[in-house]
Formats: sequence, structure tokens, C-alpha cells
Amino acid sequence: MQRRDFLKVLSVLLLHWSTEEQQITAVDAARAQRNKRIVVIGAGLAGLAAAQQLQAKGHQVVVIEARNRIGGRIWTSTKWPDMPLDLGASWIHGIKGNPLTALADTVRAKRLPTSYDNYITYNSTGKPLSSAEEKRLEEIRTQLFDTLQKAQNNDKDDSIRHVVEPLLAKNEPSYLQTCRFLNFILSSDIEQEYSGSAHRLSTQWYDSGKEFSGDDVLFANGYRVITEYLARNLHVELGQVVQTIDWGQSPVRIVTRTTTFLADQVLVTLPLGVLQSGKVHFVPALPSTKQAAITGLGMGVLNKCYLRFAKAFWPANVDWLEYIPVMHGEWVEWVSFLRAANMPILLGFNAADYGREIEAWSDQRIVARAMQTLKTIYGPGIPEPIDYQITRWAADPFAAGSYSFNPVGASPALRKDLAKPLGKQLFFAGEATEQDYFGTAHGAYLSGLRAAREMLA
Ligand SMILES: Cc1cc2nc3c(=O)[nH]c(=O)nc-3n(C[C@H](O)[C@H](O)[C@H](O)COP(=O)(O)OP(=O)(O)OC[C@H]3O[C@@H](n4cnc5c(N)ncnc54)[C@H](O)[C@@H]3O)c2cc1C
Repeated sequence: MQRRDFLKVLSVLLLHWSTEEQQITAVDAARAQRNKRIVVIGAGLAGLAAAQQLQAKGHQVVVIEARNRIGGRIWTSTKWPDMPLDLGASWIHGIKGNPLTALADTVRAKRLPTSYDNYITYNSTGKPLSSAEEKRLEEIRTQLFDTLQKAQNNDKDDSIRHVVEPLLAKNEPSYLQTCRFLNFILSSDIEQEYSGSAHRLSTQWYDSGKEFSGDDVLFANGYRVITEYLARNLHVELGQVVQTIDWGQSPVRIVTRTTTFLADQVLVTLPLGVLQSGKVHFVPALPSTKQAAITGLGMGVLNKCYLRFAKAFWPANVDWLEYIPVMHGEWVEWVSFLRAANMPILLGFNAADYGREIEAWSDQRIVARAMQTLKTIYGPGIPEPIDYQITRWAADPFAAGSYSFNPVGASPALRKDLAKPLGKQLFFAGEATEQDYFGTAHGAYLSGLRAAREMLA
């Protein structure tokens, strides 16, 4: 159905309801009651999952999306036709019992397993860690996580950085090494996973989510196979930037830059960063518990820099290349696409403060800095990349960050508040509303299913 037709149907229905009420038979009323006009805001995993469920129950559903594409933080680039690459989520994390595994099976998606156990770690001078260095790194890792675990029993919450700081005794002979190793663990084990800065992450709640077990798998043809499947048969309106949600009356009015939509129920799947930006106005304003949830949770950063080479120059048998930098957070994690996909492509990650900082740099400066790290490891003679792809999720106005995290002062209860419906008209989904699986693709999907159940109840 075209947008114009849909609006026509909406206005006919509205007219029918308002001026010819007396003519509606009991059967019509029951049908009208059953077949609600529903607007889903956002065509990411959460919105598409919910829209499928709602449409299957016979409701009139339209998904309105600001971008000119579906998927949101699922975004498969086809710039390199022989290797579709994900600029947002890449992996199904933990395939056992993960609802996305069932979807991937349904669409017969080819998947490529990668393993965190399949790695090599290089020290700051670019040499693989000696066995003494490996032992020291493991000692510091154990100390760090023991310290965090103990601090989780404290009455008062504190930032991860502040809690682990005492592990650095300034006068010990290997102070510099300890400092770099500690920063490396903070960056690779914590910031890259949770996307928040160690200066802000809550010691008590940073890891409050759950995980599925089993392998991590990439999609050979990109994560888009899932969002394209979920969007089938749905009416999706692209290029509709929502500005105002007027929910104080029935029907709810959703005002975009070009159109006004009317709905009996609205599902908001706007990313936390967009809600925090205040660029979408709620009329009346959201209640204080909802606002406290929006401001109390954190929106973090994880960015990607894909480098494509004519030929690989790194070890063929590992998935992860790790580097212990001099400065905190610089180019610590790399994924090789050589073993999993037989492609001479490296993916460098940057998270949290450093990830956010370099978004302001030019592409050329980012690639040059990435190459500086690779040259430290593999020598100055390595070839320059033939092409690159770089993300800037914090600067993206329709994401305003990569995914949510629990900062100091936040607890999982805030996510419950964020998810809570307001009356019978306004519902909320999206990864940040998920208590157990926040920050993930499966969390977004599950939140959409949860919201659909609430709307159908
Ligand atoms: C770099 C990166 C790597 C990641 N890696 C993984 C991974 O490997 N595995 C994993 O499980 N998860 C990963 N994630 C997290 C995962 O991508 C997200 O949790 C999930 O895709 C979020 O889905 P969502 O539906 O909640 O939000 P979104 O996908 O962001 O959907 C919200 C939609 O709302 C739209 N929108 C925003 N503003 C407006 C507006 N004003 N009007 C109308 N529409 C609007 C957006 O354009 C978007 O389409 C990663 C995320 C990033 C950024």
C-alpha cells in the first residue's frame, strides 16, 4: 500500500469513527476494536520484529523510519560486492537458544564462526607476548576482575576506572607495563564489549545482562538477511523523520517533517541516544520516571574501520589480533577475515572515549593511525590498504551512539522504566529497554516481541 492510500484509509476510518458513530453496528465496532491502527517508529530489529507480530494479528501497521533504508543499527555495506560487511552489528553472540539463530535458520543464512580463543596478542613494540608477559597479563586480569567482583558488594557504586586504580602502585618497577596491561584489559574486555568508558561504567551493574552460550557467528552475506526477512510484507515508510509524538489524545498524532500519522497505538523504538538528544518531542512531556530512565542510562560508542588489502600480511590462522597500545584504547582489537571468509580484510575496533574522539578525524587520518599500529606490529614495509570503510555511530543523528550501557548511578530497574507502556497508547522497545540482553541484536529483537505482546494484551 502506498503512503497516500494508507493515509486515505486512516482518514476514512477516522471520519467513520467521529461523524458516523451511530451507524457503526456492533460487529463493526468489535472489528474496529480488534483491528487497531498501529504506528511503529523505527525500522530496526525491535520495530520490525514487533510490526511482524502485530500485522499477523490483523492490525493495520505502518513502520515509519527516518533513514532511507531499513535495519537501523543493522547495516550491511555492499561497497565491496564480493564481501558484504556489517557496519553495525556483525555477530550472533552465543548461538544456543538465541532467537536470531532460529531466524537465521529460517532464511538459511550462511554463517561464519569466529572464536575469541583464536587470537594473538602483541605488546606495545609489536612483538607477540613472551610467556612471561602472558603470565603477567593473566595475573593483572585476575586481580582486576577479583577487585571488581568484590566492589560489587559495596554499598556505594563507583566507576570501574576508580575501583581498579589502586592496582597501580606508582613506585613498583614495572609500573609502566602494569599500567598498559591494565588499560588494555579495561579496553578489550570491558569497553569494547559494553561500549561505555571505564570512567563512567558502573562497577555494580556494568555486566548485569545475560548471555547465550555457544559460538559467535558472522553472516556471510551480512546481517541484512535478518532485517530484510522481518520487513517482508510490511508497510515501511522511509525518510520519515519523527519530530513530535502527541500522545495526550486519541488517536495519537505522530508528526514527521512531511506528514502526520494518526494511530490508536504507537510503538517507539527510537535509540536511547535519540531519546537523550531531545530532538523528538513528546506532548505531553514524558513522566518523570521515564525521563529519569532516559537520562540515567548511558549510550556508548563502538566504531569500526575495515581495511582491505591486495594481499594478507598477518597470520592466517587467527581470528583476533590484539595490540597493547601505549595510549589507552587505541586500536586494541582487530578481527581478521582471512580464516573465516578467506578475504584479506582487517577490521579495527575503537570504543568508548577514544572511539568517540576519533570520529572528528578525517578518514585519511583514521586510516593513517590504524596503519601506524599495523606497521608497529608487522613492519614498515606492509602494503597500504586498497580501500577502507569507517563508521561514526556517535555522530549519526538517528543512532547517537552504538548501544546502551549501565553508568554509575544506573541500575537495571531503569530499563524496566524505559520499557513501561504509558497508558494503552504509547509503548516502548529497542535494545536499551531490555534488562537481560541490552546492547545486542537479540536484545533488540526480544524487546520488539515483548512490546508486541503488551500491545496485543
Ligand atoms: C558498531 C556496532 C556493532 C555492534 N555489534 C553487535 C554484534 O556484533 N552483535 C550484537 O548482538 N549486537 C551488536 N550491536 C548492537 C545492535 O546492533 C543493536 O543493539 C540493535 O541493532 C539495535 O536495534 P534497535 O531496533 O533497538 O535500534 P535501531 O536499529 O537503532 O532502530 C531504531 C530505528 O529508529 C530510527 N530512528 C531514529 N530516529 C528517528 C526519528 N526521529 N524518526 C524516525 N525514525 C528514527 C533509526 O534510524 C533506526 O532505524 C552493535 C552495534 C553497533 C553500532
